[in-house]
Amino acid sequence: MTTAEITTRSIITKSNLPEADYVINPYTGCSHACRYCYARFMKRFTGHSEPWGSFVDVKLNAPDLIPEKSGKYRGKSVFLSSVTDPYLPLEKNYGLTRQILERLIPLEPRLGIQTKSDLIVRDIDILKQFEVCEAGLTITTLDDAIRKEIEPGTAPQTTYDLAKKGFKDEFDLVVLESMGFNNTYANAISREFAIANNIKTNSDLAPFTSGLSYGAEHSFFDRADGFENMCLTYGYNFPEKNIVKMDVSLKYQSLRQGQMDVCCVYTTDGELAEFDVVVLEDDKHFFPAYYCCPVIRQDTLDKYPQIREALAPLKDCVSEADMVRYNALIGSGKMDIPSAAEEFIKEFKLMG
Ligand code: SF4
Repeated sequence: MTTAEITTRSIITKSNLPEADYVINPYTGCSHACRYCYARFMKRFTGHSEPWGSFVDVKLNAPDLIPEKSGKYRGKSVFLSSVTDPYLPLEKNYGLTRQILERLIPLEPRLGIQTKSDLIVRDIDILKQFEVCEAGLTITTLDDAIRKEIEPGTAPQTTYDLAKKGFKDEFDLVVLESMGFNNTYANAISREFAIANNIKTNSDLAPFTSGLSYGAEHSFFDRADGFENMCLTYGYNFPEKNIVKMDVSLKYQSLRQGQMDVCCVYTTDGELAEFDVVVLEDDKHFFPAYYCCPVIRQDTLDKYPQIREALAPLKDCVSEADMVRYNALIGSGKMDIPSAAEEFIKEFKLMG
């Protein structure tokens, strides 16, 4: 997904929706990428040609555009948001919705807010301060297979719940909340090849595969979420002689040197910051989500219950881009692991 920081000229927009006098959209685009989304038309007005769900523009100055004083919105219905979700994962870092809500309180609107994310819970302290507030949290389905199909960008809560239960039942381990980044598989190709053939997604790659080579580590060829099923899903036809099982560390070099055409990478590889490759969009959502969560032994947590609170700020605090950045710092030798950890704690304000 691409993210751009932009400024906007206005943020409270008069609405034609029957239930809202005004709407506020802190972001343009929506990473939830719901198949049924009615808001795709926004691409026409914002100059985006990418697939809906693959871009988000962050309206950095949005909170500053809320007037400090005005009687205009008193008693009027103001709705967040009509063409995005006000609690996209990016909101964890940018906090635009939170700032907007804070500034709306003195204007005394009737607030309506709708989301598919439990991040809204973070702002309950602010929502309580509105005289009239109607907040909605949509959970479309508890079936993760269906969720992936229709709302591929929403949080895979069911997977998380199953993993949590399995770790507890089988190993007496406690799985804490996800740190927010998804370290899954992806296909990477050289930028030159991608541009020359207008390849942006795994599906775009399919017509070329009979003439291409493919490299991945050994385990990728033995997994259900690996090579064979990926080829079936996307209709890939790599010739047997062009398929290479290789060491992880060689993949990026081999792409750069033209020895491999397509390589399987991880979405948080530090090399993504260094090598000029294009990571293809998994447009059929074949690869599962692999979110990172701290795991603690139950007996340790019983003995030191304060660990849970100490680790709570890690929840949803790191994006894939952040992980690429830190992996690159360590992988390139610019920082050792202790220094990177110290920097990480500082950057994400994880200690008092
Ligand atoms: S959450 Fe709403 S705006 Fe976002 S993609 Fe889904 S339907 Fe569209």
